[in-house]
Amino acid sequence: MKCEYCNGEAIEVINGKAYCEKHFSKYFLGRVRSVIDKFNIRGKIAVALSGGKDSAACLHALHSIGMKVKPFYINLRIPDYSEACEKKAAELCDILGYELEVIDIAEYGISLERERKPCSTCGTVKRYLMNKFAFDENCDCVATGHNLSDAVTFAFNNLANVNILNFRGNKPYLKGKEEYRMVAKVKPLYWLKDKECMLYTIINNLPFAEEECPYSINAPTLKIKDWLHALEGEWPNVMINFAKSFWKLEEMMEKEGNINICKKCGFASYGSICKFCKIRAKMEKQEK
Ligand SMILES: [Zn+2]
Ligand SMILES: [Zn+2]
Repeated sequence: MKCEYCNGEAIEVINGKAYCEKHFSKYFLGRVRSVIDKFNIRGKIAVALSGGKDSAACLHALHSIGMKVKPFYINLRIPDYSEACEKKAAELCDILGYELEVIDIAEYGISLERERKPCSTCGTVKRYLMNKFAFDENCDCVATGHNLSDAVTFAFNNLANVNILNFRGNKPYLKGKEEYRMVAKVKPLYWLKDKECMLYTIINNLPFAEEECPYSINAPTLKIKDWLHALEGEWPNVMINFAKSFWKLEEMMEKEGNINICKKCGFASYGSICKFCKIRAKMEKQEK
């Protein structure tokens, strides 16, 4: 099959159009740029690396379109996993000429090992530390590698668990709020599916860890993702439409009336003490 735009051999078909390597990369970067331009993202972007394919693609794409980036990695101390991921993140930074900043959760007295629901604690800890890093480094925005497949899966998983409030924060861009020390957040890969991110990573030879997080194996979200990808195969663009609908819903239910400043750390919180500080306090107690 030939590329829609040149004589090159096609490597991927997206919505009925065939793309060669070069034109696929162009399409990919165009999607990333559309998010950056729509929300007028400027200045220094803290890029959260997980060691996986998506955040690797995210950093490479932002670098390629000339954005100023500051990559960092949060070491969650997950045995046999975190070290491998950190190594890949560091390799990627080496290739692109950046210094990787590493944040270690152990420095905050936090460990996921004894948690009954490690994924939920992990999510809180990551969100908090990402924001704190970007704030401390005076970045204008934090970028994460969440792609279209992740965003839609996350929304369906919340529907499946009647977790409507968790709809908050799933849209492609969240404005910062200085008074709450909240740095703006952007998902540059928001309009790109899992498969497209994987292809971009492979084409550009980016190092990434193939290991899955041991806590996420058998997670129901993986089933939801498979189901969505199968549906997309029969109904092109359905995932983009889902994402647009969820985005609209999120805007409709957005209220910031109940946001506070955490009494312990001064960052944003829904209660008087933020979830991160509660986790720290709980773990300090366990230590004793
Ligand atoms: Zn082409
Ligand atoms: Zn706090």
